[in-house]
Amino acid sequence: MDYGLEQMTLHKVKRTMEALKHNGINSYFVQTREEAVAMVKQMLNPAEVVAIGGSKTVEEVGLLEVLRSGDYQFLDRKNPMLTMEEKYQLERHSFFADTYITGTNAVTMEGELFNVDGSGNRVAALNFGPSRVILLVGINKIVENVAEAEKRLKTWVSPALCMSLGRKTPCAVTGVCVDCASPERICNLYSIIRKQRNTNRMHLIFINDTLGY
Ligand code: SF4
Repeated sequence: MDYGLEQMTLHKVKRTMEALKHNGINSYFVQTREEAVAMVKQMLNPAEVVAIGGSKTVEEVGLLEVLRSGDYQFLDRKNPMLTMEEKYQLERHSFFADTYITGTNAVTMEGELFNVDGSGNRVAALNFGPSRVILLVGINKIVENVAEAEKRLKTWVSPALCMSLGRKTPCAVTGVCVDCASPERICNLYSIIRKQRNTNRMHLIFINDTLGY
């Protein structure tokens, strides 16, 4: 990254962090994936109940291996041995987790979190339930405002996700959103978090990297 671009990016991150603080969301900035994982480990207490929401970033930084270490009571919805019913029950139990860890589809420079889910388990847990939420976010997720977040979602995030998940949706074939009626549609439940009343609940870790979709 050239110096001018890096300065602009850091300015964007700083502005977003100030807006998040204003909205009751704590934020931190780290340079690497390893630093992000170390920060999460520092935040977690031994044996606490930890759940995760679907997030490519959580996987990319290598956090799943840490959570599977046995040091925590990890509600592992990514366990490939789970039946659909077991996964569903685990997602319901996640609302009682001490800590819920996931990513976000976008974070606006006005300090808002924008997310969309197919079934709603992640947006529901972000909104209410787990005592604490930790978000791992690459700086590529920062957008100007909600309108830009929606545009990013339609033109990039959802089509890319559908392709990677092998969903039978039009966007998985063409890369273009047609606001489909597919039973496998993933854009069903939208959430905008504008503020947190409990200012100890949400902790967002920005990572100086391109992560997730
Ligand atoms: S609404 Fe349908 S076509 Fe559009 S991005 Fe979502 S899944 Fe793809």
